[in-house]
Amino acid sequence: MSDRIKSKTRSFLLLLALFIGPAVSAQTPGRAAVQPLALGEARWTSGFWADRFDTCIHRTLPAMGALMAGTNYSQFLVNFEIAAGRVEGRHRGAPFNDGDFYKLLEAASAAVAVTHDEFFDNRIDFGIDAIAAAQRADGYLHTPELIAERRGDPNAAPFQDRNNFEMYNLGHLFTAAAVHHRVTGKTNLLTVARKAADFLCATFSNATPEVARSSVCPSHYMGLVDLYRETREPRYLELAKALFALRDRISNGGDDNQDRLPFEQQTNAMGHAVRANYLYAGAVDLFLETGDAALWRPLEPIWTNLVERKMYLTGGCGALYDGASPDGARDQKSITRVHQAYGRDYQLPNVTAHSETCANIGNALWNWRMFLATGEARFMDVAELAFYNSVLSGGSLDGTNFFYTNPLRVTEPLPTPLRWSRTRVPFMSSFCCPPNLARTVAEMSGYAYGKSPGAIWLNLYGAGTLETELPGGPRVKLRQETEYPWSGRVRVVVEQDGEFTVKLRIPGWCHNASIRINGAALNDAAIPATYFDIHPRAWRAGDAVELDLPMPVRVMEANPLVEEDVNQVALQRGPIVYCLESPDLPRGVRLADVMIPANPKFAGRYDSRLLGGVVVLEGPALARPAGDWTGRLYRESQPAESKAINLRLIPYFTWQNRGPSEMSVWLPRSGG
Ligand SMILES: [Zn+2]
Repeated sequence: MSDRIKSKTRSFLLLLALFIGPAVSAQTPGRAAVQPLALGEARWTSGFWADRFDTCIHRTLPAMGALMAGTNYSQFLVNFEIAAGRVEGRHRGAPFNDGDFYKLLEAASAAVAVTHDEFFDNRIDFGIDAIAAAQRADGYLHTPELIAERRGDPNAAPFQDRNNFEMYNLGHLFTAAAVHHRVTGKTNLLTVARKAADFLCATFSNATPEVARSSVCPSHYMGLVDLYRETREPRYLELAKALFALRDRISNGGDDNQDRLPFEQQTNAMGHAVRANYLYAGAVDLFLETGDAALWRPLEPIWTNLVERKMYLTGGCGALYDGASPDGARDQKSITRVHQAYGRDYQLPNVTAHSETCANIGNALWNWRMFLATGEARFMDVAELAFYNSVLSGGSLDGTNFFYTNPLRVTEPLPTPLRWSRTRVPFMSSFCCPPNLARTVAEMSGYAYGKSPGAIWLNLYGAGTLETELPGGPRVKLRQETEYPWSGRVRVVVEQDGEFTVKLRIPGWCHNASIRINGAALNDAAIPATYFDIHPRAWRAGDAVELDLPMPVRVMEANPLVEEDVNQVALQRGPIVYCLESPDLPRGVRLADVMIPANPKFAGRYDSRLLGGVVVLEGPALARPAGDWTGRLYRESQPAESKAINLRLIPYFTWQNRGPSEMSVWLPRSGG
């Protein structure tokens, strides 16, 4: 590495040390039942999400900034410097690494909305400067091709290879630019994004379906809508609509990119799970802006297919590593290859679960948008499930190591070699997930609330403050005090007089929720999976709403059609899914030996010294030696004595923070 690049590495490290920028109003979707808040209007003050936000800005972003400044792993930022002609070199890394870098800038910008640090803001500009310098005069921006052009490759040209991920990268550029502009008011990244979008408008004014085929992993529907909302330039919305419509004209498409069938005919969650969830999220964005019912119609059956037949208990998505599309399989001629994909209905293997972190984030992005469109709590239930379990599991507690896949069971040895690491690592060749996780955590306070005329919506609970203006007024200023998700008790204190409705999400898992206002109990039933409305009243500063969401340990079982979970149970408390990890096994007991009693009696206990402070579940269980299965597929069952053991389960998202281990979410249920 040259001294110049080393110096840039140091500079970029500084980029991720501090942040600045006033929060400005979020742009409003056109047909939303609920509007999002502007980043920075809601802030965590302590507890679960404050800890994760701090880890994100103090550990994750600096480490990722250093990595992306150019290391032995790869050279994200340096690719832009080479494309700009500032340094010599070749492109290194995956073709979607530009998009990963944009996601990092988005995460850093979201952090600026809260932390307001001028120096850090300036360092983000350092990265944007390299991006702007790399951009071609006509607006095209994709470092693998730009570097090939610079090196005289006669075949270098835009949109030649569907696996170049140009649209994916540009989609993330558009979203990052919208967030950066909204937070800082600066136009430097927005100008780059507009030039790139204008290039797309000019290039694809009469596009062929081949263009749609080249748009794998479609972040660009969300991105173009974000850019449209930020600029109000109608061409960007028109382009998003046109590119979406092009999908329906593809012939000989496949399920891997969800283009075998026209979108309106789709009823199942199918194909590559990241691409699927990004497509569905983009369709909701387009629906919100256009009101086109044809975009909405397929989303309900696809969502139902997901939650009733294809989603892991953790909110994870995508059961398969590789294979043929189950949707086309009955017709031999229509079989298409899929990878990292949704499987058949009820096909939810645990050891070989793909459940990519990006797919699980995509699940939350999709459900968040479905919630904005409808105001229905069932969508926030899925988003919350994914956030606390299969999204957070993608990163280590120290914020610097990452999973690509999030299996629900890991054994030693694995029955089959799998492509991705079974321990979290600082870098993987598909580096899409780590910056995706960083931006999700950095933006989590934005998911916690919503607003609509006369109402403030409380979606995710966590200790923090909120200050916003409802559409048409008034201003709302609140404070939340809670230990959620470890405790279901939430106290919301009004900090400014005003007349508005408070809408409290009653999670689908919560029965017998109760609500008090200034100590007086409300008699109205709080129904699970709804929002409880505290109707317009003249709130006075100091008024307090107390919400109690009982969190008994719940014993979960799967539909018997899920073969892998037959006669097994999993434990859940509040939104947290638990697992058994081998460091917690009693001496001499193996993971395969453990059985849960027919009537489990597990209780939660907060352990401040374990895994950064978590509620563990403890209770009696049984161990029956599984014996030696070496070289055997079957054997005659032998009577074996079970012995009583005490078991401790930990939150699934915290597993594999104590070294390599075995782990299982689902555990066999004892017959006795
Ligand atoms: Zn990913």
